Amino acid sequence: MLMKYQQILEEIHKEVVPLLGDGKVADYIPELAKVDPGKFGIYLLFLNEEAYYIGDAHEKFSIQSISKVFMLALTVAHLGEKVYERVNVEPSGDPFNSLVQLEYECGIPRNPFINSGALVITDLMISHLNNPKEELLSFIRELVGQEDICYNETIAASEKACGFKNAAMVNLMKSFGNIKNDVEEVLDLYFDFCSIEMNCNELARAFRVFANHGKGVIDAKRYITESQFKRMTAIMQTCGFYDEAGEFAFRVGLPGKSGVGGGIAAILPGEYSIVVWSPGLNPKGNSLAGMKALELFTTKTGTSIF
Ligand code: GLN
Repeated sequence: MLMKYQQILEEIHKEVVPLLGDGKVADYIPELAKVDPGKFGIYLLFLNEEAYYIGDAHEKFSIQSISKVFMLALTVAHLGEKVYERVNVEPSGDPFNSLVQLEYECGIPRNPFINSGALVITDLMISHLNNPKEELLSFIRELVGQEDICYNETIAASEKACGFKNAAMVNLMKSFGNIKNDVEEVLDLYFDFCSIEMNCNELARAFRVFANHGKGVIDAKRYITESQFKRMTAIMQTCGFYDEAGEFAFRVGLPGKSGVGGGIAAILPGEYSIVVWSPGLNPKGNSLAGMKALELFTTKTGTSIF
């Protein structure tokens, strides 16, 4: 067993190395453009503690939109079903930063895993949590079981300086009454959330709680209810990869979430979490080699939710 998974990760590593130059590192956030596109890491973590990794699996990177999963989990844990009155649960079929549907859907975002949806979640967090910036970090630290998970203020500032589309989105939603707080406050906090840095190992530990239906594997604490877990996983499956969610389900077959930092975190509920990092993105903003690596993994191991 031990050899089997390690060998598979090694095979995958070899197969994706030629792809590492093909993707394009996100450069609309100037700080992210500095990341080495040759980086590649995978961390695979089973509920029973078996773990396998390869490459740069212990190097921190900007988790970007993967933080949207933590934001949603914390917010539903506090507010329950009410969250879904302000954000829908349909795949958008549009890029993650699109404004198009907001206009004719009266400022209600398609789902919580595109930028507009996460901005509404941020607004809810400001309204209902005492100190959302601290609380999100504490929540993630608790899921991981480690204290040194932090925001990167340089990346947050870099995104804020160029975040015109997110600003447009917040203002449009505010005009429809779906943003209750000050738009600058919402944007600042959203950029902070995107700037969190973690490595594949830390993300795999956090997502293992989701693979375990919302219950900590080590502390046995229930972080989200079984029903909240079901809903969140369904949204990961249908909306976790923007306008490539269908393609990801088709090729990989696991619920998950990507970010423009090049990370992808995915789970096989009841079995494992797996995180891959490779900063070169495909045209839809998902890690090019990361998606290929996960496709190879589920194919070689014969594991997927289908
Ligand atoms: N911070 C990024 C943005 O708002 C997050 C996008 C992403 O990771 N897909 O554009």
